[in-house]
Amino acid sequence: MNDKVDDCIFCQIVAGDIPSRTVYEDDTVLAFLDANPLARGHTLVIPKAHHERVGDMPGDVAEAVFAAVNDLTPAVEAAVDAPASTVAFNNGEAAGQEVPHAHCHIVPRFDDDGGRPIHSLFGDRPDLSEDELDGIAAEIGDAA
Ligand code: 5GP
Ligand code: ZN
Repeated sequence: MNDKVDDCIFCQIVAGDIPSRTVYEDDTVLAFLDANPLARGHTLVIPKAHHERVGDMPGDVAEAVFAAVNDLTPAVEAAVDAPASTVAFNNGEAAGQEVPHAHCHIVPRFDDDGGRPIHSLFGDRPDLSEDELDGIAAEIGDAA
């Protein structure tokens, strides 16, 4: 388990040095309300240990984080009477991750809330040939 990183805001929340509104906690996972919510009920789910990104967490930690996301998503939706949610990680600085301690956003969504799907984050889509797609699939398979 990685030690607390002193200048990490989320490690300080885990340690109780910064207050937060906890909605769920176990030995491995903490979930709390986002301080600047994108919607009512916006919740963050984090590993208690400092792991920067998806892929950095050991398997048992990743399993615990996803199990909490799986349980909390319907609970968050029910609490704010939301018919849907966007569940996402900003994973790495280039993807907009500002706090370098892995965290999953559960953002309740409502009809006509003005939000858009994750697909709308992207501009021009790459025009990939069948061969390029085959190559990419193989590369990912080899790297996994
Ligand atoms: P990111 O951009 O890294 O994916 O998201 C970081 C999130 O953490 C933001 O939505 C931001 O509002 C939230 N956040 C930043 N600092 C704090 C804090 O001190 N307390 C809580 N509860 N949320 C925070
Ligand atoms: Zn941390």
